[in-house]
Amino acid sequence: MIKRLRGTYDVLPQDAIKWQYVEDVFSVILERYGYREIRTPVIEETSLFTRSIGETTDIVTKEMYTFLDQKGRSITLRPEGTASVVRAFLEGSISPDALTKLYYWGDMFRYDRPQKGRYREFCQVGVEAIGSAIPALDAEVISLAMCLLETLGLKDLKLNLNSVGCVDCRRVYYEKLKDYFNSSTVVTMGKLCPTCQKRLEKNPMRIFDCKEENCQRTIEKAPTIAESLCSNCTLAFENLKKYLSLLDIPFVLNTRLVRGLDYYTRTAFEITYEKMGSPQQNALAAGGRYDNLIQELGGPPTPAIGFAMGMERILLAMEIAKVNIPTGKKVEIYFVSLGEVAFQEAFKIIDRLRRKGFYVYATTSGRSLKSQLREADRLCVGYTLILGGDELSRRVVMLRDMENSTQREIPLKDLEDELAKL
Ligand code: AMP
Repeated sequence: MIKRLRGTYDVLPQDAIKWQYVEDVFSVILERYGYREIRTPVIEETSLFTRSIGETTDIVTKEMYTFLDQKGRSITLRPEGTASVVRAFLEGSISPDALTKLYYWGDMFRYDRPQKGRYREFCQVGVEAIGSAIPALDAEVISLAMCLLETLGLKDLKLNLNSVGCVDCRRVYYEKLKDYFNSSTVVTMGKLCPTCQKRLEKNPMRIFDCKEENCQRTIEKAPTIAESLCSNCTLAFENLKKYLSLLDIPFVLNTRLVRGLDYYTRTAFEITYEKMGSPQQNALAAGGRYDNLIQELGGPPTPAIGFAMGMERILLAMEIAKVNIPTGKKVEIYFVSLGEVAFQEAFKIIDRLRRKGFYVYATTSGRSLKSQLREADRLCVGYTLILGGDELSRRVVMLRDMENSTQREIPLKDLEDELAKL
């Protein structure tokens, strides 16, 4: 038997209800904050991701699903959503003057080591607010992320906040990092792993992503970006903190938070749910500013900020928090028909009822009353309609309330009106 691929999963019907619930709640809130949906392809030119996410990142060096198409072009399954949204924003000539607020849902692909809350194909919902650099927007975006999660009933969320500065701050910081990692203190702690040695040359901040024990130890004492921030970045960060306080959103400063993608500038944040376990898997949402990305991808200088949330982790967190998922009340009916003639009549009525908005289950003809009722029980429907030859000759149908096992006859001509009253 063929099995699903490692790192992928199926959403079975009983779980699909949970997904739909989160999607419904989120769509309403996202629209309320002024975001409009955008859908982009799952496949893109590989260079879109290498250029935006960064050549030295784990995603680009180890985790992308890349292949050559029939004409030898390098194609990649998207590992994240921002690069594609920015490409679509530029390609669709969406006005860069006004603030553009976009949101997306979609499957992302990363060849990561699968574990609980970490998959190779996973679903992210994300937002991008393009066209403004004001820190109040950062606070609004963070507030939206908190609102989405809190509306689901998740509490005790932790907002981790940092500023990773701009190109100027980073130039200063890289020098400090290089000095530190080349210093005798670090050398005596043991060598960095071969990947980090390369990172030290090209992009020392990426060393923070390393999971090797030895590298982790050296990172602990490394200088933080905070002391290297330029005056503009410092001011922007102070303003962001002020606006978050105005919205009563508590945060924890985390100067080690650098995020695994190169395009971030200034604000970087992560929302964690610590009951979910290890720091590697407890981030529900992550995002930040990317003020240079749009220009790097060929557009005009345009500041922007966004975040992405992992749907699987949100659902896991809801399970841990024992969130009750309301099941919208809908009248579900099982239509039992007895004999070919009644089946043909039922066949017509069922189609009409479905078109009128009723949820109707039925099976093909030729099954006994007992077996059809057993199936109605299994499907947990609220009501059954029973149509046999006798009922049909009198132009009535039997309506059975499955919960209290009562039944009454309804004239066929009144069926829709009577069902509408249930
Ligand atoms: P990132 O795109 O890496 O900034 O991640 C944003 C969010 O997506 C994380 O906070 C997680 O909730 C989720 N996420 C990232 N990678 C995975 C993965 N491999 N499996 C499941 N969820 C993920």
